[in-house]
Amino acid sequence: MKIGIAGLGLIGGSLGLDFRSLGHEVLGVSRRPETCEQAIGLGVVDRASTDWSLLATAEVIFLCTPLAAIKPTVLQLLPHLAPETVLTDVGSVKASVVEEIAPLWHNFVGGHPMAGRAESGLEAAQPNLFVGAAYVLTPIADTPAAAVNCVEDLVRPLQTRIYHCQPAAHDRAVAMISHLPVMTSASLIAACMAEPDDAVLKLAQTLASSGFRDTSRVGGGNPELGVMMARYNQQELLRSLQAYRAQLDQFMALIEQADWAALEQRLQQTHAARPEFL
Ligand code: NAP
Repeated sequence: MKIGIAGLGLIGGSLGLDFRSLGHEVLGVSRRPETCEQAIGLGVVDRASTDWSLLATAEVIFLCTPLAAIKPTVLQLLPHLAPETVLTDVGSVKASVVEEIAPLWHNFVGGHPMAGRAESGLEAAQPNLFVGAAYVLTPIADTPAAAVNCVEDLVRPLQTRIYHCQPAAHDRAVAMISHLPVMTSASLIAACMAEPDDAVLKLAQTLASSGFRDTSRVGGGNPELGVMMARYNQQELLRSLQAYRAQLDQFMALIEQADWAALEQRLQQTHAARPEFL
């Protein structure tokens, strides 16, 4: 199949590597000419350009730009598209993207591969990034079934687990398990950095190991992506942050009251619940 990728960064580049290794022809468009040259050099695409007309012959186009650039990208693409071309995006937020893009293009399927890395840009692209990951599709009532099937047939061989849900349900769920962790992890790093004693801060930095690596990973990732999550999923993120603050208050109260039995009970509950998410 001839696949177009708009936005050659971490996600677009990783999709390109996998699609090419599965025998598809991949055409890429990105904003900067040097990214296009690099994409050809890295084997991410067969051909690349900064000119949207390159994607005119693509049968399916994956929109892999930052969230804010998805609608402007579609508006640039529209004059070049054949009526049967399928558009799908990979944005981390779905309700606002689907609301904006579905009225512009009938053959549009909202999508979100639930895989990523702390690094961003084309250099961070890697093969097999999506193996074992959930790939969420958010078709709405009038999304053509053929378009949904077409996207599924392309992403299933990447060894993804495909799920369907409503855009709003997606945004509420990912607020909890993806966007909230970015903010709490960033707050953790900020709280450590606020340590007033320089010697203690240096010691903490020296002693930090696997626990800090795990808990700080998403908060130390791509700042642009974090801002986009907050901007495009503001209400659901605030709701999950309020729930988190309520939990934090309860944990603090137990520690202040030295109620170790109750604290242990809460930690037993979280210990038992974690595998349900992973
Ligand atoms: P990224 O590494 O920053 O890649 C985005 C690429 O898009 C940039 O490298 C840039 O390439 C290009 N670009 C930027 N503005 C553009 C524009 N106006 N027109 C065309 N190309 C443009 O970001 P990413 O992490 O791959 O994220 C891309 C999308 O995937 C986002 O919508 C995000 O929500 C979603 N997503 C991210 C993750 C994650 O963990 N990172 C996971 C799942 C989904 P140039 O060098 O050409 O400027």
